Amino acid sequence: MAAFDYDLFVIGGGSGGVRAARIAGGYGAKVAIAEEYRMGGTCVIRGCVPKKLLVYASRFKDEFEDAAGFGWTVGDSTFDWPALIANKDKEIARLEGLYRAGLERARVEILDTRAVIEAPNTVRLVKQNKTVTARTILVATGGWPSLDSKLPGMEHAITSNEAFNLAELPKRIVVAGGGYIAVEFAGIFAGLGAETTLIYRGPKILRGFDEDLRDALTDEYRHRGIRVVTGTVFSRIEKTSSGLTGHLTNGDTVEADQIMFAIGRAPNTRNLGLEAAGVELRANGAIKVDANSRTNVPGIYAIGDVTDRVNLTPVAIREGHAVADSLFGKKPWAVDHDLIPTGVFSTPEIGTVGLPEHAAMERYGKLDIYKARFRPLKATLSGRQERMLMKLLVDSASQKVVGCHVLGPDAAEIVQMAAIAMRMGATKADFDATMALHPTAAEELVTMRDKWVPPLAT
Ligand SMILES: Cc1cc2nc3c(=O)[nH]c(=O)nc-3n(C[C@H](O)[C@H](O)[C@H](O)COP(=O)(O)OP(=O)(O)OC[C@H]3O[C@@H](n4cnc5c(N)ncnc54)[C@H](O)[C@@H]3O)c2cc1C
Repeated sequence: MAAFDYDLFVIGGGSGGVRAARIAGGYGAKVAIAEEYRMGGTCVIRGCVPKKLLVYASRFKDEFEDAAGFGWTVGDSTFDWPALIANKDKEIARLEGLYRAGLERARVEILDTRAVIEAPNTVRLVKQNKTVTARTILVATGGWPSLDSKLPGMEHAITSNEAFNLAELPKRIVVAGGGYIAVEFAGIFAGLGAETTLIYRGPKILRGFDEDLRDALTDEYRHRGIRVVTGTVFSRIEKTSSGLTGHLTNGDTVEADQIMFAIGRAPNTRNLGLEAAGVELRANGAIKVDANSRTNVPGIYAIGDVTDRVNLTPVAIREGHAVADSLFGKKPWAVDHDLIPTGVFSTPEIGTVGLPEHAAMERYGKLDIYKARFRPLKATLSGRQERMLMKLLVDSASQKVVGCHVLGPDAAEIVQMAAIAMRMGATKADFDATMALHPTAAEELVTMRDKWVPPLAT
């Protein structure tokens, strides 16, 4: 049998790669992991974690305003962007250290270098300029923000990568895109006091989400002073003496200090040696894998965003864990990509699990729909006009809850719990039989009695 330098060589030290390496190392496999930037990957360094910290920062303004209704007088408040970024960086460095320590404890060899595949079972370490061999190669290289490379003036724009480390808070920002990252950053910048415009080429932001959530969040954003402009894109970005001017295809112009593009992410598969090794890619560059994350080349696996299945951290982590268990722990299993809860950390935020109404209708044919729109208790004294939205979709035939959609404070926290019930196949009757926890917003999910009836068409 051929002798290899490693049992497993992981390319990419992000959410999925680190988990796979750690678990495989724990089983006693000889493992190495190569990371070209910083251990922890997108989520830790320039994704979920720093984003959520910025979201928290952006919500204090609301808290200060709301305090008055509860008898508080809050003095003049000011915001210090460099302080926030420095504190965020400190926390990210701490987390990166924890990731490294976890790998070391599992006796994983950490290689701070770019790695590329030279052939099946052979990897080139770019910094060291040497090749090593591995019985299994796991590609976990994640994704990268897409740019509109043909757009004149694109070089003046930033992506989420740079947004986390701007030297100063822009007074005016335009965010291009309609997905969750664009929507979240628009909320962050607006909450921190920037004049914010969101520009999206489609008719409505958050494509793929439930229509009620899309409409409600658009309304709330507009109410908060975020300009949501749909149906147009940039035709040109121009640098001027006072900042940037964005020219739009609808003929309008927008002035900004920063223009951020969040128009999607592309799998990190370029110049990785995949073609040379014969690994098949999809049209968008994602690595083709089966349910067990196997590519078409024996011994090469791929997980996480680079496979463009469901691009979320917990999914990448599970995929990595499943590969390690299956190959080295004698516990073969595959990730179930159904019923994945997800949040949009806008303000107000979204939590959602299961199907949006249009997809549920397509799959089940007949639905019982329960909807509630209400002012949360806190808003009665704060005077805040925002309303929560709760929506349950129930398959009429089986009475199973097949969609749960929430917009409002703590929506993501609420939906994580609803996801457990749905995973277990809970019916509407199970929700109803659950005692309410009062007074909460979440209790609405177990107290909605009346089916929603669409208004009569006039
Ligand atoms: C702004 C933003 C916010 C997000 N928010 C959320 C959220 O709230 N919740 C959520 O679940 N998900 C969120 N995500 C998505 C989440 O970050 C990704 O789904 C997750 O990080 C994917 O993990 P991964 O292991 O596939 O890849 P990544 O975490 O991207 O890791 C890939 C790693 O590979 C390295 N690499 C690439 N090529 C090479 C090479 N040739 N050699 C060596 N190293 C290489 C990269 O430097 C990177 O560190 C967010 C993403 C972004 C950009």
